[in-house]
Amino acid sequence: MLNALQKELEHRKTDGLLRQRRLLDSPQAEHIVANGKPYLSFCSNDYLGLANHPALILAMQNAAGISGVGSGASGLVTGHHRYHDDLEKELATFVNLPAALLFSTGYMANIGVLGALVGRGDAIFADKLNHACLNDGGYYSMAEFNRFAHNDVAALEKLLKTSNAKHKLIAVDAVFSMDGDIAPLPAYLRLCEQYDAYLYVDDAHGFGVLGEHGIGSLSHFNLASPRLIYMATLGKAAGVAGAFVAGEAVVIDYLIQTAKSYVYSTPAPPALSATLSASLHLIEKGDTLRAHLQHLIVTLKANLQLKKWQLMPSITAVQPLVVGSNHAAVGLSEHLQKLGILVPAIRPPTVPVNTARLRISLSAAHSEADVIQLARAINQAESELA
Ligand SMILES: *Cc1c(COP(=O)(O)O)cnc(C)c1O
Repeated sequence: MLNALQKELEHRKTDGLLRQRRLLDSPQAEHIVANGKPYLSFCSNDYLGLANHPALILAMQNAAGISGVGSGASGLVTGHHRYHDDLEKELATFVNLPAALLFSTGYMANIGVLGALVGRGDAIFADKLNHACLNDGGYYSMAEFNRFAHNDVAALEKLLKTSNAKHKLIAVDAVFSMDGDIAPLPAYLRLCEQYDAYLYVDDAHGFGVLGEHGIGSLSHFNLASPRLIYMATLGKAAGVAGAFVAGEAVVIDYLIQTAKSYVYSTPAPPALSATLSASLHLIEKGDTLRAHLQHLIVTLKANLQLKKWQLMPSITAVQPLVVGSNHAAVGLSEHLQKLGILVPAIRPPTVPVNTARLRISLSAAHSEADVIQLARAINQAESELA
């Protein structure tokens, strides 16, 4: 087996697909030290700049002094601390849903929820560009797994119309992580009502950013329905770690009994929950941060002068710049890196063939000058490289 692994690694290397981690020697922020060098970074999902916020550092230090550092047992034994419980209630209130349950990561939440809510005889309907962990959750659930073309309401309806599955669950990213565009959630919810289906929304990139007070994608569209099951991660805009699922009380009660990644896993440390309660407070009061983020998006669009490359239409913090070939994307990313700017190149299979791109991720921690510096460097690079 080890020989086979070695060969596979060598194949990846010769195909230019071997991925390497950068070693970070600074907090996650807009200016970072990676592999020993300083960079202006457009890589993180820390959209509100909370990952290194002084109030949250203090909250974590204080909470650790009170609750200790480890949860010590699964939530159903003695690992469910008051800090976890308080945060679940606060999150449910914040997103205007009856109840919420914490998971240690978004990946665990998607696998746990899909595995618990649907199974053999049921069907999942998934957007082709969904995040990898929704796919994994789908396979793990053993439900029939149907994928439909990206944001294609008609294609989804065709599938629903002919399905005779017992329970039907539409599962989608609300904001697509590599495209930055938003799913047509109101149309999906109408289909749910028409075809007796439920809508599972993964709002990893919308929570904290979209909607009133950063409530997320449901607020962005003003959606409410007992057919909604909402998931958001807490390691992106919330700046810490973890995830939660929110919905009808019966759904949450059922997940507490049956979601294996909840039942058989040690909850994240209680101090993280206390930190997240403080983060939620900053998100709720963060209209200024979100206004600044919107200003940065406008600034980027206004300062890019592109002839061949294309910025994808996106109103979110994820601003993908499509350059086409893998070679071009990697070349541009390396060129910017030499100028002290980090922007990750995203290639197939993460995105479709010939749409290799730079995934520019903006944060409220960036200044207007940071974004202008990036736009100018890209303009200059296009005239040199494209
Ligand atoms: C990041 C992400 C996840 C996984 O969340 P983690 O907490 O990082 O495990 C799930 N879904 C989407 C759409 C994501 O972007």
